[in-house]
Amino acid sequence: GREIHLKSRPQGEPTPGNFELVEVTVPEPAEGQLLVRNLFMSVDPYMRGRMNDVKSYVPPFKLGEALDGGAVGQVVRSRAPGFQEGDFVTSSGGWREYHVADARQYMKVDPNVGSLSAYLGVLGMPGMTAYVGLLDLGKPVAGETVFVSGAAGAVGGLVGQIAKIQGCRVVGSAGSPEKVKHLREDLGFDDAFNYKDGPVADALARTCPEGIDVYFDNVGGEHLEASIGKMKNYGRIVLCGAISQYNATAPTPGPRNLTLAVGKRLTLQGFIVSDQRHQHRRPDFLRDVGGWLREKKVKEVETVVEGLDKAPEAFIGLLRGHNTGKMVVKLASG
Ligand code: NDP
Repeated sequence: GREIHLKSRPQGEPTPGNFELVEVTVPEPAEGQLLVRNLFMSVDPYMRGRMNDVKSYVPPFKLGEALDGGAVGQVVRSRAPGFQEGDFVTSSGGWREYHVADARQYMKVDPNVGSLSAYLGVLGMPGMTAYVGLLDLGKPVAGETVFVSGAAGAVGGLVGQIAKIQGCRVVGSAGSPEKVKHLREDLGFDDAFNYKDGPVADALARTCPEGIDVYFDNVGGEHLEASIGKMKNYGRIVLCGAISQYNATAPTPGPRNLTLAVGKRLTLQGFIVSDQRHQHRRPDFLRDVGGWLREKKVKEVETVVEGLDKAPEAFIGLLRGHNTGKMVVKLASG
């Protein structure tokens, strides 16, 4: 089997030279273990942080070792009770074609709810992020205005669709005219704008004339500052990510208008979806989003790149906005 190693730590934007495709011998599964053939693997923005040698909420990737991350695969050989050859499972053993680990590191998934790759997107970690972040932290109420940045991405696209289901007016920003059209026409956003067309503050004045009740921030930087300026009193800002700053090589300036949060009585709250405190919501998330998928109230959108050797390109492309919906890498057919 083949796997991708981190060869060197990126300075600023990652390049193909930071990665290395390596041929390895796949070990036999020991008692209690499974051998899994990966069908899809995920590339996610948080992986950029793990490529730096700094302490964070997940440990950094090690040089000269395989990267890891979300994957969906099929059991090839099972030496553990409860798993059979042919079962579909998720794991954190991505960035490689075959994966061997203890059975408790795998979770069986139902291939009939959505597509298999949906377990890396709407039914997986990004979906849970949108669900918990919007509903539990943003607490949107019908009739309120919800603004989401990174709106054509995995998390943002679902945030907007869930906010619509809650009866909110939904506005999104994204980085190309095609993505803006996608938000309006495919995902049912009430309004959307291309943040590359001009100042975000001007676009918000146009698209959110009455102000914003909930801002779901995937981007940070200019988007965050402009949103603080447009928030209504008692508004909620969900700090989910700051992708505009992930390749930064020096500290980035904070929102210069943060003190507006006092007079506007704003709540700004960060969160990490994998925290224990959010896990009680997993059954609700799977029931609701699974149901919305079946009822076609939520769309499963993804960009698929084929082949393990293309995984570094897929990751670099993700940070550049080459994806609409969830960026996944297809490694094999089930
Ligand atoms: P996306 O599918 O949204 O992909 C990333 C997108 O970011 C790109 O498609 C690109 O779209 C956009 N982007 C890149 N550079 C910039 C920039 N300078 N300014 C604005 N947009 C930019 O990824 P995810 O949905 O997986 O993640 C979205 C956010 O959620 C990230 O910040 C991520 O770190 C965060 N996250 C947080 C979690 C948590 O637990 N807190 C869990 C999961 C994700 P475009 O073409 O529009 O620029």
